[in-house]
Amino acid sequence: MSIVETSVAAPLGGPTLPQERRLVTAIPGPRSQELLDRKAVAVAAGVAHTVPVHAVAAGGGVVVDADGNSLIDLGSGIAVVTIGNAHPAVVAAVQAQAAQFTHTCFMISPYDSYVAVAEALNRVTPGDHAKKSALFNSGAEAVENAVKIARKHTGRQAVVAFDHGYHGRTNLTMALTAKSMPYKSGFGPFAGEVYRAPLSYPFRDGLTGAEAAARAISLMEKQVGADNLAAVIIEPIQGEGGFIVPADGFLPAVVDWCRANGVVFIADEIQTGFARTGAMFASELFGIVPDLITTAKGIAGGLPLAGVTGRAEIMDAAHAGGLGGTYGGNPVACAAAVAAIEAFEAEDLSARARAVGDILVSRLSALRAQDARIGEVRGRGAMVAAEFVVAGTTEPDAALASAVAKACIAEGVIVLTCGTYSNVIRFLPPLSIPDALLHEGLDVVAAALAAN
Ligand code: PMP
Repeated sequence: MSIVETSVAAPLGGPTLPQERRLVTAIPGPRSQELLDRKAVAVAAGVAHTVPVHAVAAGGGVVVDADGNSLIDLGSGIAVVTIGNAHPAVVAAVQAQAAQFTHTCFMISPYDSYVAVAEALNRVTPGDHAKKSALFNSGAEAVENAVKIARKHTGRQAVVAFDHGYHGRTNLTMALTAKSMPYKSGFGPFAGEVYRAPLSYPFRDGLTGAEAAARAISLMEKQVGADNLAAVIIEPIQGEGGFIVPADGFLPAVVDWCRANGVVFIADEIQTGFARTGAMFASELFGIVPDLITTAKGIAGGLPLAGVTGRAEIMDAAHAGGLGGTYGGNPVACAAAVAAIEAFEAEDLSARARAVGDILVSRLSALRAQDARIGEVRGRGAMVAAEFVVAGTTEPDAALASAVAKACIAEGVIVLTCGTYSNVIRFLPPLSIPDALLHEGLDVVAAALAAN
């Protein structure tokens, strides 16, 4: 029997939840601990967790656990519930669609909501050229398909990804992903014809955007050869790699080179997309128009859905039956996405992301001014990070980032770490978080830093 069944009814999620940090037990409390014990027995060890509580409800800016603790959410389930957990419009759309039908398989008998999501993606992604979309279940699957489409379109095989890049955990996307532990170690051999180019990482390389682009382009020309290169894939702001914002001019120079050489430029906006960075897509912030763009995470308010959107002539390169999958573009997920995309626009969540970002950057910059162990505060919109270093150097301090994150979680604030060197704490709050709660969360971060 599950713990939840034996307890009093779980609180309703969504905006009805009290917006407060409330600790009634240690983290984890006894009910969460019991569930964690069951998890340890039943769930494969490779599926780890960061926050040792079992969620029973979430909404606004909080996650409530099985013991009645209410934690401030500064992670959004890794940039997914950007519009807020259990957003009422998403809940209503899911309920209505689930009562109509839950599946037909779009490849068997199509339905309206899939087409509506494709139309919305074609409209809201950067560029006013003719676009088409295809839908999938996860970010990794979208990336796989973007590469398939680019290869079919160009008749070439090689793909270039970047240092610090993260693109997923399937075989091809592991190959595209830079970091070995925990994503790749022991899971090879990996897909072939994947090459890695150096990124622009201003805090660490001190290069201008033009210099960093020239370095990457040289590798592509000399080690791969433009004639062999189907696609370049890059996150406009590296997510798992450490919220790395490239220097001005880097991305446009890479895009220009791709265009001049018939290489498909794929922006992986799975983490940066849907208002997270203060624009609907981060590509807009850098003035670039990708040929293809991959989306997932924020697209459907928490339902599993992903997309590839791009130039119609590239998207149409794959033969009939070459793209798809049993569940891709599931009707319940599509209904959620239609509602979520409407909310992003109607609630002007890009503006809200900028306001949240202003709070994050000003509070974290104030901490950095007093503490040289914060090497850099960076990001765009509500995608902001602090990189921890040994004071006065750029030497990564992963132990400090981990200690601060653990201390925050123990005090009821969910924060996530990231970075190639595991020395970055990233802040990705749901945009539905009240300002006061965000400030309280950052007070806890400040105290955790001071104590470590
Ligand atoms: N690309 C990027 C940029 C991501 O951040 C992620 C997920 N963290 C993925 C791809 C993979 O997405 P998923 O976990 O849905 O497969």
